[in-house]
Amino acid sequence: MAAAPHRSLPVRPMWGWGRTAPTAAHVMGLLDLDAVRDEVRDAPRGVLGRGLGRSYGDGAQNSGGVVVDATTAVGVRSFDRSTGLVTADAGTSLEQLMTWLVPEGFFVPVTPGTRQVTVGGAIAADIHGKNHHQAGSWCDHVDSFRLLCGDGELRDVHRDRDPEVFWATAGGMGLTGVITDATFRMKPIETSRLVVDTDRAADLDEVMALMVDGDANYDYSVAWIDVMSSGTSMGRSVLDRGRFATVDELPAKLRRDPLKVVSNSVGTFPPIVPSGLINSLTVRAFNELWFRKAPARRRDAIQTITQFFHPLDMVAEWNRVYGPTGFLQWQYVVPDAAGEVVRRTLDELSRSGLAPSFLAVLKRMGPANQGHLSFPSAGWTLAFDTPAGNPALHTLLDRLDEQIVDAGGRIYLAKDSRVRPELIAAMYPRLDEWRGVRDRLDPNGRIRSDLGRRLGLVD
Ligand SMILES: Cc1cc2nc3c(=O)[nH]c(=O)nc-3n(C[C@H](O)[C@H](O)[C@H](O)COP(=O)(O)OP(=O)(O)OC[C@H]3O[C@@H](n4cnc5c(N)ncnc54)[C@H](O)[C@@H]3O)c2cc1C
Repeated sequence: MAAAPHRSLPVRPMWGWGRTAPTAAHVMGLLDLDAVRDEVRDAPRGVLGRGLGRSYGDGAQNSGGVVVDATTAVGVRSFDRSTGLVTADAGTSLEQLMTWLVPEGFFVPVTPGTRQVTVGGAIAADIHGKNHHQAGSWCDHVDSFRLLCGDGELRDVHRDRDPEVFWATAGGMGLTGVITDATFRMKPIETSRLVVDTDRAADLDEVMALMVDGDANYDYSVAWIDVMSSGTSMGRSVLDRGRFATVDELPAKLRRDPLKVVSNSVGTFPPIVPSGLINSLTVRAFNELWFRKAPARRRDAIQTITQFFHPLDMVAEWNRVYGPTGFLQWQYVVPDAAGEVVRRTLDELSRSGLAPSFLAVLKRMGPANQGHLSFPSAGWTLAFDTPAGNPALHTLLDRLDEQIVDAGGRIYLAKDSRVRPELIAAMYPRLDEWRGVRDRLDPNGRIRSDLGRRLGLVD
């Protein structure tokens, strides 16, 4: 019997950004599509596309199977300055798009809190940014992509001509096939700077009221929340809102090169970090400082793209700060009418002391799109990072997940490493419809992932 082709591929351990559950897979590039197709046909544990590994859990892992490293295929194939329409290889990162196209006067339509994500990863998670309330999520700006499916066919998927496959892939966490390239629309900008307003809010009520009343006036909005604060200051926050500046709004010295890209890197986190560095005491102290150092009310500050959108990218590999046991991110969205759930979850988290977090954000989301498994929907989204490994935290989050479901909300698959599988169908009520599309594209279940198996999305 002939050996399965994937056996000649190198085997590498892989993990998500949270570094919690590494598994090993055979790794191959995306350039030779025939070779990828051979693996789709023959690899016993299936095939999965992977970008820069910025999903937190096991979404980009395929234990014992084949992982197609899309970052081997990078570049802009075409760019139309009159419309902002770009066709780029799936492994192209948002950072590369910005480096190449900001000087031309175009920014990505949506950016997450890091620009180290790929075009393929942006589609597969249907990522959102600080502008969801105004601009929707990534796939709202995508015209088409090419998808190598589990039946071996390379499909040209257009949002209008093949909406079922398009929307099953938007947020489908790579489980409908391997994306090879995509065509999407960039956003025109006059300058590479933002005009930013900052407000410090004394508690949750104040920040929510500011956002409800004012977010419509801003393209981008995000609140950093001190999840360690409790009692009368529970939910105290720093709210940053902004939009891209026009040339006229820049100080004279910046006007000479208004589209200059500034990267603001400050280094790399050391590879060996003592465990327990992130604990209630250190985080409480950090959060106190962070809150105090923010201006109580500031208007029209000029900031770079990195300062406003990607401050974490200034320190490469900052995820090592959590030490060897790694960390998780819990992110949920609940409808507007369930704003009370934000209060209850924050209250339980802060009182429990189980989830020290210096990185917690609250955003408002606009209406959902048609993605069967796309995360965003109108309402409030709360996200925070915290060390993994404490069983009591998992028990608490399991309980809070039920409150999210009861409120008509869901957790974000791209951040997940722990949710109970039996809750997924309630969180994503179109799951069966999605499975129907996937079965048509992949009748033998060739496209698989650790996340897909863990949550019972695929066999
Ligand atoms: C610091 C930080 C901040 C973040 N902030 C946000 C945020 O504000 N909003 C938000 O929405 N997300 C956010 N994220 C999550 C991140 O945007 C998503 O997880 C994104 O999918 C990561 O892209 P990636 O290229 O690293 O993909 P990976 O993590 O490598 O993969 C993610 C998923 O995409 C699939 N995939 C990747 N490439 C392909 C391909 N070519 N074909 C088919 N499937 C593919 C994988 O199978 C996997 O299911 C953040 C992550 C970090 C680390």
